[in-house]
Parts: sequence; structure tokens; C-alpha cells
Amino acid sequence: MYHRLLRNASFWVFLFSVDEELAEAAREAGCQCGGPLHCANYPRKPRGGCENLPESYRYRLSFCCGRDGCRKRTTPRSVRFLGRKVFLGAVVVLVAAMRQGPSPRRVRELTELFGADRRTIARWCTFWCQQFPQTPFWKVARGRFAPRLAIADLPRALLEAFIQRKDSREDWKRLLQFLSPITITGGLGITGIS
Ligand SMILES: [Zn+2]
Repeated sequence: MYHRLLRNASFWVFLFSVDEELAEAAREAGCQCGGPLHCANYPRKPRGGCENLPESYRYRLSFCCGRDGCRKRTTPRSVRFLGRKVFLGAVVVLVAAMRQGPSPRRVRELTELFGADRRTIARWCTFWCQQFPQTPFWKVARGRFAPRLAIADLPRALLEAFIQRKDSREDWKRLLQFLSPITITGGLGITGIS
């Protein structure tokens, strides 16, 4: 189910081009103070992708304001990195989804496929079913799904809602762009219980 595409370096090249578009839009918008944004990428060592992950994955696109006295950082949304998680965003979605459903994949099999250990995978499942539903993002975004997606079915229900064609990178792009508001600072802020 779904994972063949993530083994393919061209998929990750494609996602980088999406991140470049998101970054360019952020750069054009400039800093909140009106200053120009200069390149100030973060080094990264992501895990869970294909064997020959493109070099562009050694960093996350980010900017710094060029105006003296401001120098504020702007990190655009990403379809590659899910906040500070070490594993690539698509992997964090897919592996947790593969643990769900009527015939969940065994942890051992997923560990062999993606290199995430049992504890890491368990943490992702907790993230999707407990933390993610509490984010301001999800409290608004859930309204676009009819019928409603059950929290217990996250993230599998999201995967099924977006990925309708097997191995479609465009479907993955739509899903990861949908989730991208949670990839920036504050995006995972958790609201009070409502
Ligand atoms: Zn500024």
C-alpha cells in the first residue's frame, strides 16, 4: 500500500520543488517588518526516505530578515519536514497509517522498510490520534471532510481521503500541502480542550 513511491528518489525531488515554491512565496512576501529575506537554511539529516535521497534534503529552506535591528527568522511551510521530526513528513503519515485498518502491517516489517524503531512508530501513532486532533489547524480543517473523519482513524483516513490514485505524487502533494500549516513554528500549538 502506497509505499513504493516513497522509495523513488524522483518523488523526493518533486517534493523539494514544491518546497521551493512555498519558500519563494514566503520570500516574496518579505519579513513582517517590511525588510528583505535572505537565505538562512537549517541543516537537516532526515531519515526514512529512499537510499539516494537528493542533496537538497540536507537542509530545510529558511530565511532571515536582512534589516538591522530585526533579523527575524521566517521558515516557510514544508511538504518535506514535519516540524522538528527527524523522519520525513510523508513517512510519519504513511507508517502510522499502515499500523491502522483491518490488517495493520507488523512493526518489524515497517522498521525494515523505513528504519523507524518500535518506540518511534508508537510515538507517531500517539501524535496523530492525540496531539494532532488538538491543534487549532485540525479544529478548522476537519470541517472540510464529509462524512467526518474519525479521530481514531487518523492518519489513515487522511491518506485515503487524499491519495486516490496509486503512486500519485500529485495526490501526495495535495495531502502534504494540506498538512503544511502544522510544519511551521506554532503550527502544532495545542489549544485547550473544547
Ligand atoms: Zn524584519
